[in-house]
This record gives sequence, structure tokens and C-alpha cells, in this order.
Amino acid sequence: MNHCPSCRRPIRWTITQAGKRLAVDPTPDPDGNTAVRRDGTGTYLSRRPSTELPLMGYERLHKPHVATCPANQAQLPLPAEVTSLDAHRNRRRNP
Ligand SMILES: [Zn+2]
Repeated sequence: MNHCPSCRRPIRWTITQAGKRLAVDPTPDPDGNTAVRRDGTGTYLSRRPSTELPLMGYERLHKPHVATCPANQAQLPLPAEVTSLDAHRNRRRNP
């Protein structure tokens, strides 16, 4: 198992149809857009399912890790519990 250098979460390296390396989350996700299968040598191959070539029974949908990596989500709003903790601190600081 490999780990993302940015967030240290486990990732799985796949080879795309273009021959490039693509890191996906190791757990299949039905919302993913990348079909992953393992070839006879144990290499994970990935591709984008299409109308002409939909997901096959031997493939599983995964999300590319860049879509879920927290290092790429810094611009998104913080989870609610973090926001409420900050609000709590502000209330204590400025009663
Ligand atoms: Zn990451």
C-alpha cells in the first residue's frame, strides 16, 4: 500500500489507458468516475467508463485521490464542529 505524500492517506497507484500513473482511493466508491481493474500481473489499470465502454463486471469504480485529498480541499469550508469550536473560543475571548 502506498501513501499520499500530501495527506499520508493510503492510495493505490493505477496506470491509465494513456500510460500515466493515477492515484486513486483504495476503497471502491460508487460515486467514483474511474474504473479500476487488476491485470494478470497484479498491476492496477484505470480508465474512464464511457457510453461505448461502460463499467465492466470485473471493474470497480474508484475516486481519483486528488478528488478526496484533504491537501487539495484547503479552500473548502471547515467541518461544522471546527467552526463551532472557533465560535466557542471567540465567545470565551470576547464575552
Ligand atoms: Zn492526499
